[in-house]
Amino acid sequence: MTVTDSPTTAPFRPLGSPRVLAGISAGRALTWAEHRAIHGTPALRARAWLTDAARAVNLLGRGGASFPVVVKIEAMPLGGPMTVLVNGSEGEPASYKDRALMTVAPHLVIDGALVMAHALCASGVTIAVHDHLAHAALTRALAERPDAGTVVLAHTRTGFVAGEIRAVVTGLNTGLARPGGRRELPHDHGLAGRPSFASNVETFAQIAVLARLGPAGYASTGSRDEPGTSLVTLVGDVVQPGVLEVANGTPLADLLPGRPDAPVLVGGFHGTWVRSTAGLTIDRAALRASGSPLGAGVIARPLAGTCVLAEVAAVSHWLADQSAGQCGPCFFGLPALADDVRAFAAGRGSDAQLLRRAGQVRGRGACAHPDGAAQFMTSAIGALADDIAVHRAHGSCGRPPSSIFPLPRRTS
Ligand code: SF4
Repeated sequence: MTVTDSPTTAPFRPLGSPRVLAGISAGRALTWAEHRAIHGTPALRARAWLTDAARAVNLLGRGGASFPVVVKIEAMPLGGPMTVLVNGSEGEPASYKDRALMTVAPHLVIDGALVMAHALCASGVTIAVHDHLAHAALTRALAERPDAGTVVLAHTRTGFVAGEIRAVVTGLNTGLARPGGRRELPHDHGLAGRPSFASNVETFAQIAVLARLGPAGYASTGSRDEPGTSLVTLVGDVVQPGVLEVANGTPLADLLPGRPDAPVLVGGFHGTWVRSTAGLTIDRAALRASGSPLGAGVIARPLAGTCVLAEVAAVSHWLADQSAGQCGPCFFGLPALADDVRAFAAGRGSDAQLLRRAGQVRGRGACAHPDGAAQFMTSAIGALADDIAVHRAHGSCGRPPSSIFPLPRRTS
């Protein structure tokens, strides 16, 4: 198990024709001139145009919740002071896609934010970012542009829960990065108490691409139900570890060659372990319907010949330690759940007890952390049933731990 203070850098490349990663061939950011040669200047559109376009291509947010962009636009007021918030506080330890995108394509993220600000007549854009490489790339990009006068960078804290959008808003408003509650939504009460259109950095890059290509051009790749592309972070035994841009509709099997029955984690540390990826594609609605949402865009498969249960137990304890400590079911419930998972790794454990405890934390926190952590733990029990049986029979499987996930030290 790797314990890190800063994110591991990861290679990134497209699988097929790139869009948000167009022109990226190395780990350096595109300059303003290079960016314009590929993407042109931002295609500023009216609110009605952008609303219709987002609806036409079923544009979904690229953060964990996959919220429809059109719903967020329509939730914003038609006038008065408002702002745009780009959430670059990627707290999911297994995901690097947002940090990679801000580092190599900062201008496209800025373009998307400016497109949205123009459409909404917002007074400004705030980009919240904690990663120092991404911050440096955005700083250079803003200095290069003649149209960045209303864009500010805000340094946020690292952390799984601290990266959640409501925690980011609260952190920027008060200095204390804790989720304010599930009903506290940025479009009602965002930065400085103003309505804020808030979304993930990749969402804004996709908005820039949509504004330039128009709905028909945008829908020339991807699936019928979800046109376009997505960035995913591939971890472990995969076609290539790192950040990839894939057309929506790509079968997961294309990303995970061989071993069709090996357990796979879909979505990240708030994701779902599945026993088989047969029939699964990069399609947010379909994955959600199958019970394994794409979440933070992480697809991970442990290496063959390693103990997955040991890693699940370690991540479970890390998840329990991420509680912000303001909700009892989360603060007390997740450590008990993590102990249950550790018992499985030690050849003991009770499915019924784990499921009962998971039911006691779900939906009872001020944020979705307990729900996501419980999903990670309970789904492992089904997907790793064979491994659990071996551990019960012999006390362990005798294999070395699978160590594919970095676990950052807690800083918030
Ligand atoms: S649910 Fe957990 S992580 Fe979320 S605010 Fe409450 S204590 Fe913090």
